[in-house]
Amino acid sequence: MSEALCTQCPRNCAVARRDGARGYCGAPWDFQIARAALHPWEEPCISGSRGSGTVFFSGCNLRCVFCQNREVSHELLGRSVSPKELEDILLRLQEEGAHNVNLVTPTPYVLQLIPVLEHVKPRLSIPILYNTGGYESVDTLRLLEGLVDIYLPDFKYLDPTLAHTYSDAPDYPEVAEAALAEMLRQCPSPVFDGEGLLQTGVVLRHLVLPGQRRDSVKALRMLAERFGSNAFLLSLMNQYTPEFAMHTPYPNLHRRLPTFEYESVCREADSLGFRGYTQSRDAATSGYTPNFHEKTF
Ligand code: SF4
Repeated sequence: MSEALCTQCPRNCAVARRDGARGYCGAPWDFQIARAALHPWEEPCISGSRGSGTVFFSGCNLRCVFCQNREVSHELLGRSVSPKELEDILLRLQEEGAHNVNLVTPTPYVLQLIPVLEHVKPRLSIPILYNTGGYESVDTLRLLEGLVDIYLPDFKYLDPTLAHTYSDAPDYPEVAEAALAEMLRQCPSPVFDGEGLLQTGVVLRHLVLPGQRRDSVKALRMLAERFGSNAFLLSLMNQYTPEFAMHTPYPNLHRRLPTFEYESVCREADSLGFRGYTQSRDAATSGYTPNFHEKTF
């Protein structure tokens, strides 16, 4: 992996970000973040009673067409922070009572993050959580071994055509599967504290998309067969929000997820023996999207 030409993620853009060039993710070389605040809406074992200490990084290597954090992922909302400022932000979130520090879409900044995490980890008594769309390079993930306590990846699609259409990444299924295997190698089984808060492990998220429940079911079957249903916690998400995708030419994305589609995927997860979380229908609202214009750091 080269620092001069960015190959931190599977896009392998090979652009000179240190010299100001931008690749697919649009991220600059220096840290750029949009929000740093306690977040109450992650899974209960992550947000607990006081919230998860989320830090939203600007830019994304997937940029899904239906993204509900579009301002940050596609439009690069946020401001530049130094490594020292980022460290101070992580420590401040701990002081505010966060149950963990939650690095949201940090993929384009991993090489820059490693020295920050090495320096700050001895002063953090809470877990470091890596929150990602799942399109990760195994070589890059290996560099995080011992620094990240909890992985929170998505597994978005099993069908390469769907991955191509919605995320411009036809290799997403195989890449995300290999990334998950590496995350599980580093954090092999969920461990909770006495209050039920996750201390280490993997929580895998899957957002059920309108019209795609068959792909969801196939994805769950593959994951159960490949990894077993006890290796990670499964979070089945019901929060698809069409208002972020009305500009796309895909009619399926212009409607909400019908209850029966979501429930049929939940039944499959149950029958496969997965443990984890489901969401009520009232999660499907833009009110769950953080306000990225509020001054939080
Ligand atoms: S991190 Fe960004 S610039 Fe680097 S390879 Fe990935 S998409 Fe390209």
